[in-house]
Amino acid sequence: MKKFAAIYALLPTLLMWSGISWALPTESRVPGGVALIDLPASQTPPEIDYLGNRVMVVPSETGTGWTAVVGIPLSAKTSETQKLTVNGKPMSFGISGKDYPEQRLKIKQRKYVEPDPKQVERWRRESAEQKSAYKQWSEPKDAVTRLAMPAQGPYSSAFGLKRFYNDQPRSPHSGLDIAAPDGAPITAAAPGVVTAKGHYFFNGNTIIVDHGHGLSTMYCHMSEISVELGQKLETGDLIGLVGKTGRVTGPHLHWGVSLNNTRIDPLLFVQQN
Ligand SMILES: [Zn+2]
Repeated sequence: MKKFAAIYALLPTLLMWSGISWALPTESRVPGGVALIDLPASQTPPEIDYLGNRVMVVPSETGTGWTAVVGIPLSAKTSETQKLTVNGKPMSFGISGKDYPEQRLKIKQRKYVEPDPKQVERWRRESAEQKSAYKQWSEPKDAVTRLAMPAQGPYSSAFGLKRFYNDQPRSPHSGLDIAAPDGAPITAAAPGVVTAKGHYFFNGNTIIVDHGHGLSTMYCHMSEISVELGQKLETGDLIGLVGKTGRVTGPHLHWGVSLNNTRIDPLLFVQQN
């Protein structure tokens, strides 16, 4: 029995190194997308920096080298070469453009479109709290490269939409909206640790989960949060219920994915059937 247990414990590593079912995210070298960059074999994984943030590195699918999994910001300019450092040495890659559509939303509560100075101050504080969660770097043994959908429902707003609230331009949509009904369960997209929890001005009841190697997921507008700060989670654990807290036009889950402190299209990490 013991021998079998040892083999089972080794199995994920063996599969990972043999390249079988080692599912990387879908590559999309555009603003808001993910670049997969192959690097030569070395004893230890290379340390990579992109825009001041450490980058996820996983064994390559061929099993002979490494692959950097790089999140590209929505603000990246297609005319500029993207610069990385690999163990301190410069490297670059190019990206192509992506024309995200516009979305115009009507918000009844004026404070969510024209917040007063006190509300702006609150938003700044909360934004700093969330950014510091995104910047955390932890190294669980296995990097997470695929995510499970955290709620069931049609997608009501895609990632990257150029947003206008009551005809005023605002930041582009940094996540995916899933139109699940009020009170529907929300589950963890991968194993991780809760690194932020709060009732935020725009995002409502929100948590951020760190999955390690620079990958985090965010869950917003919940009616109820059922986990604590620092709590360890497994894929599928209940973390809260769908709601309509914060700036919303109706109940839904806003699901965000951050890689190297960069918000990217969540669906690139979801196995497409
Ligand atoms: Zn959203």
